[in-house]
Amino acid sequence: KTVCVTGASGFIASWLVKLLLERGYTVKATVRDPSDAKKTDHLTSLDGAKERLHLFKANLLEEGAFDAVVDGCEGVFHTASPFYHGIKDPQAEMIDPALKGTLNVLGSVAKTSSVRRVVLTSSVAAVAFNGKPRTPEVVVDETWWSNPDFCRESQLWYVLSKTLAEDAAWKFVKDKTFDMVTINPAMVIGSLLQPTLNTSCAAILQLLNGAETYPNATFGWVNVKDVALAHILAFENPSANGRYLMVESVAHYSEIVKILRELYPTMKLPEKCADDKPFPPKYQVNIEKAKQLGVVFTPLSESIKETAESLKEKNFY
Ligand code: NDP
Repeated sequence: KTVCVTGASGFIASWLVKLLLERGYTVKATVRDPSDAKKTDHLTSLDGAKERLHLFKANLLEEGAFDAVVDGCEGVFHTASPFYHGIKDPQAEMIDPALKGTLNVLGSVAKTSSVRRVVLTSSVAAVAFNGKPRTPEVVVDETWWSNPDFCRESQLWYVLSKTLAEDAAWKFVKDKTFDMVTINPAMVIGSLLQPTLNTSCAAILQLLNGAETYPNATFGWVNVKDVALAHILAFENPSANGRYLMVESVAHYSEIVKILRELYPTMKLPEKCADDKPFPPKYQVNIEKAKQLGVVFTPLSESIKETAESLKEKNFY
C-alpha cells in the first residue's frame, strides 16, 4: 500500500514514516528541501527506506505542489505546519502555511481518485482555546472547538493557525469522495529521530539547560510514538472517524521538574517558578476515543525520560 506523509522531516512525521515503513507501506514523503541532509538523512537511513521511501520536494504555499505526490496514494497523512515561537508576521509565517497549505494538500487529494482517507495532524490547539474555564472539574473532549476571535485577542497565532486549518479542512471534505480523520495531540515529547530541535521537545530542554526557573504553565503531554501510531490506526481502521484527542497527562511544569528530579537526582534543575502567580489549574481530557482506536498511552514519566535521554544523546545539553 502506498501512502503520503507531508512534512516528513518533522518530529512527529519522522516517527510516522518509521512506523509506516516497519508496517510494510510504501511512503511518498514530502520535504521542503530534499538536498538538505539534516532534514533527510535520518529518513533515508530507516529500515525499508531504500526500497519503499520516496522523497518529494513540496512547499505548502506552492499551489499544486502536492498533485504528483498524492496521486496513486491510498492515504495521505498531512502533518506539515509551522510550529515555532518568535514569529514576526503571523499571517505569512503561520496562518497562511497552515490554512492555505492544508487546503492546497486537500485540493491535490481531490484531483485524484486514489485517496480513500486523509489523516490530518491537528492539535489540542484547535480544541481547547475558547475562553471557557479549564479547571479540575472540567472535561475537555472532541466536541470542544477553539474560538478564532479568542485566539486573535490573546495573540495565540499558532493556536489560531491550527484552528483555522482544521475548521477549513472539515468544510472542504464534506462533499468529497475521500474522508478525513484528525489527530489532536497536546504537547508531544519523546525520542527525537531528527537531528534538529523541535518546539515541543525544546519545552523539556529548557528545564535541563541549567535554568533557575520553570515556566508557570500547565499543558497536556503525550508521547510521540503514541501520536504516530494513532495516525496509522486512524488510517487502517475503516470505522475511525472525526477527531481524536491525544493527551496522556495534564501537568504543570513544576510536576515535570519533579519527575526529572526523581529520574536524575544529581542534575541541576530549576528550583522555582518564573513568577509568583497562581499555577494555571489542571483539567481533565476525555481520551476514550483514542483508547478505543487501540492507543496505549505511554506514562508521562517514561516520555520525559525518553525525551531527556534523546536530547542528551544528541548533545543538546
Ligand atoms: P516540526 O517543526 O518538527 O515539523 C513541522 C514540519 O512542517 C516540518 O517538516 C516542516 O518542514 C514542515 N513545514 C513547515 N512549514 C512548511 C511549508 N511552508 N512547506 C512545507 N512544509 C512546511 O513539528 P512537529 O513534528 O512538532 O509538528 C508536526 C505537526 O504536528 C504540525 O502540524 C503541528 O502543528 C502538529 N502538532 C504538534 C504538536 C507538538 O507538540 N509537537 C502538538 C500538536 C500538534 P521543514 O522540515 O522543511 O522545515
